[in-house]
Amino acid sequence: MTMKKIFLMLGVAAFTLQLSTACTDYLEDGKVNLEIPEQPEEPEEPFVYPTTYNFNNPCALIAQEDIDRVKQKVAAADANDLVYASWLNFCKSQFAQSSYKASPVEIVVRGDATGTGVASENYGSCMRDAAAALQLALRWHISGEKAYADAAIAILNDWARVCKKITANDRNFYLLAGFQGYTFACAGDMMRNYEGWAAADIEIFKQWMLTVWYPLNREFTLNPGGTNDCALHCWSNWQLCNMASLLAIGHLTQNPEIVTLAYKNFREGEGSGALNHMIPYDPVEDPDHKTTGMLAQSMESGRDQGHATLVISMNAEMCQMAWNLGIDFWGMENNKVLAMCEYTAKWNAKPNGSFLTTTMPFTTYYYCIDCECKNKNHGATHTTVSNDEGRGTIRPGWDLIYNHYAKVKGLGDEACYYSKLFAEQLRYTNGTLTGDGGAGDSRYGGNSSAFDQFGWGTMLYTR
Ligand SMILES: [Zn+2]
Repeated sequence: MTMKKIFLMLGVAAFTLQLSTACTDYLEDGKVNLEIPEQPEEPEEPFVYPTTYNFNNPCALIAQEDIDRVKQKVAAADANDLVYASWLNFCKSQFAQSSYKASPVEIVVRGDATGTGVASENYGSCMRDAAAALQLALRWHISGEKAYADAAIAILNDWARVCKKITANDRNFYLLAGFQGYTFACAGDMMRNYEGWAAADIEIFKQWMLTVWYPLNREFTLNPGGTNDCALHCWSNWQLCNMASLLAIGHLTQNPEIVTLAYKNFREGEGSGALNHMIPYDPVEDPDHKTTGMLAQSMESGRDQGHATLVISMNAEMCQMAWNLGIDFWGMENNKVLAMCEYTAKWNAKPNGSFLTTTMPFTTYYYCIDCECKNKNHGATHTTVSNDEGRGTIRPGWDLIYNHYAKVKGLGDEACYYSKLFAEQLRYTNGTLTGDGGAGDSRYGGNSSAFDQFGWGTMLYTR
C-alpha cells in the first residue's frame, strides 16, 4: 500500500469520527453513539507475477555456482572437507555409474493397476532411472568425463522414446508425475548443452516432458480435489512434488507461464501445497529459546513423522528451485518455511542418539472434517504432534535448509538451531565424516521414499 493511500484512509477515518460525534447520533438510552461505522476495506492492489524468470542455470535445482563450488572442493581433495567427503560418497552411488542402463516402460503405473493393461505397479525402473539420469548428469558436470554424459543421455533418450503414459486407477500416479517429473526434467535440462546430445533428441525429450508429465502436474496443481475430494484431502507432499515438477519443466522449456503456475499455487492456491495450508497456523516462539527462527507445525505434523519429514525434504528442493528461478519461497511471510523446518527438526533430530524434547507446541488440526469430500470416512482430528514410529526419520535437505537460512540469507546459526543439529547428525556415518547427509539410496533405503527427493544437498549446497 502506498503512503498516499494510508494518509487518505486516515483522513477518511478522522472525517467519519467527526461526523459521528458532531451529529445528533443518540442511542435509545440517551448515550451518544461513538462507534465508528465500518469502512469498506480498500481492495489490495493485485499481486503481479513476473513475466520472466532466471532460466540460465544448468537446471532449476542446481545452479552453476553450486557446480563450481563442488569442482573447487574436488580439485582441493581435502579428506577432512565435508563437500569432498560427500563427493567421494556420491561417486560410489550405484546410480552414478557410466555402466548404468535404463529399463523404460511404455505405461508407467503407480497406484492401482486394475484395467490399465499392466499387471501391477511397475514404477520402480522409472524412479531408479530418473535418479540415475540426474546423478550421471551431475557427475558429468563436476568431473567433465564424457562417459557419464553419454550414460545420462542414453537414459533420457530411452525413456522419451518408449514411455507414452503415466497412469493408475487411483490418484497415486500424481505422486510419480511429481517426484520423477522434476527429477527427469532436471536431468534433461542439465544435459541440454552437451554436444553429444543431438538437437532432435533434445526436442523429443522436451516434448515428452510437455506431453506425458506436465499435463498431470498442471492438473493436480489446479484441481487437487479431483471430482470426489476437497482441495485439502491430499496432503501437502502431493502438491509439493507436482509444483517442483512445474518449476523444473518451466526451467527446461524456458516457459514463464509454467513457473507462474507453481508460484501462484504456493502463494495463494487452494490446495495443501499452498504455504498457508501447508503451515496452517502462525509460528510461535520456541519455549526453550534455542532458535530465533520460531516454530510452526505443518499440516502433516500430527499425521506421522515419515510424512512430516518428507514435507521438509520436498520443500527444501522446491524452495531452492524457486530461488534459482528468482522467486523467494524460502522467505515468504517472514521465513515461515524456516519455522516449519525448525519445528520438525526439534521433534525429529537425535543429535546425541536421543530426542531433544517430549513436548511440542501444537494447535488442534482438523483434517477433512466438515469438508467437501464425497466420502466422509477419513477425517481426523490431530490434537498433538505425532509420536509414531516414524519419529526420527532421516531424509535429506537439512544442509540445504541450514546453508540457505544461516549463510545465503545471513540469519546466522541461531535462526536455524534445530535444523543445524539435524544437518550435523546426518553428516556422519558411525562417527566417520561421510558427508552423505544429502545422499539418496545409499543412506535412505531402497524403497520408493528414497527417490522422493534428489538429495546430495550436503555436497551441492554446503558453503
Ligand atoms: Zn476432505
